[in-house]
Amino acid sequence: MRRISIFGSTGSIGESTFDLIQRDGDAYDVIALTGGRNVARLAEQAKALNAQLAVTAFDDCLDELKDALSGSGVEVASGTAAVAEAASRPVDWAMSAIVGAAGLVPGLRIAEQGAMLALANKESLVCAGRLLKQTAGGNASRILPVDSEHSAVFQALVGEDMDAVERVIITASGGAFRDWPIDKLREATPEQAATHPNWNMGQRITIDSASMFNKAMELIETHEFFDLPAVKIEALVHPESLIHALVGFNDGALMAHVGPPDMRHAIGYALHWPRRRDLPVERLDLARIGALTFRPACDDRYPALRLAREVMETGGLSGAAFNAAKERALDHFIARRIGFTDMAVVVERVLTRLWSQDALSQDMTLDNVLAVDALARNEADAAAAR
Ligand code: NAD
Ligand code: MG
Repeated sequence: MRRISIFGSTGSIGESTFDLIQRDGDAYDVIALTGGRNVARLAEQAKALNAQLAVTAFDDCLDELKDALSGSGVEVASGTAAVAEAASRPVDWAMSAIVGAAGLVPGLRIAEQGAMLALANKESLVCAGRLLKQTAGGNASRILPVDSEHSAVFQALVGEDMDAVERVIITASGGAFRDWPIDKLREATPEQAATHPNWNMGQRITIDSASMFNKAMELIETHEFFDLPAVKIEALVHPESLIHALVGFNDGALMAHVGPPDMRHAIGYALHWPRRRDLPVERLDLARIGALTFRPACDDRYPALRLAREVMETGGLSGAAFNAAKERALDHFIARRIGFTDMAVVVERVLTRLWSQDALSQDMTLDNVLAVDALARNEADAAAAR
């Protein structure tokens, strides 16, 4: 039996992972499941998978979790340190699907113990790509991409030589506002931004899709994951969300990965890698679909993309500042303290200020990453208040 853990198991990616594991329950020995405030669901999952340990990230949820699991034999714990401890428990495979920078330390712990790290938490690569890759490399851990675009690139690269790669194109649906006139974007509300035309995801990543901050994060994720320079990475708007990414080679060939917008494909690929197994996803009927369309991803409509390129070119701890500023800008937008287009303004102000202070060129240690994360959050709060 394969020992597995799921971090963020009550979220959108977590539930899809749970679904695949539960369908084949006898094949897995579930060590740890972690969640946040959705304690009832966490307890249900822990019982259904017969997990050894269930952890809520929040101490004020512990009593509820204890009650929900009393008599079940499932060990319970709470808090950030308990989530990190759970990530140190030996497994063969772990899903990192906590949302935000909170996924960084658990991801590092999984890499340290040498497990296969299925990485949905793109924030950890954006904040601390080099650190995470070095930790994995030094401990015989393998990082497998779960973000659909990166899984698509990873699959298109099987058997290929990286020297032959001219460019990587990741697609974007364009989010909720792809057909809105640019000057109307300023008035967009959190409710409008939290609906996605094609994918069913958590609230934060859905809003990030509308602002293209999600794609901006994914450009940086591509840069980190595949060690490609910024000039070789492009974003392309593809409203149907059926092609997830394309890899362009030096002989002019483009290898496209086509599939339904169902994260269970990318999760399942990472779960069974290096093999392919049957997965319960829709089989596309291309004759019925008829046409696939594309539009440029323009920087004037999506300033987040331009900022991501600057972050890749500057390097150092810029990714950590970018992610933290973006997370806070998103909090302020959700709380209606700033408008939709102000999110990019806030992030740009934070980066410009920290770059001008030379505050992002220290070594990439965990302490430095966490310090920059805290600094950028404060700067974002100040910028949002202006
Ligand atoms: P979600 O909001 O649906 O779920 C997040 C999970 O993290 C939940 O289990 C929640 O309880 C937990 N959590 C929240 N705050 C936490 C904290 N401070 N400490 C510990 N746990 C906490 O998010 P999601 O959409 O499943 O996304 C998860 C990650 O996967 C993100 O990094 C996202 O960018 C990435 N991702 C998601 C999708 C998707 O289709 N949803 C696709 C690609 C990548
Ligand atoms: Mg994606």
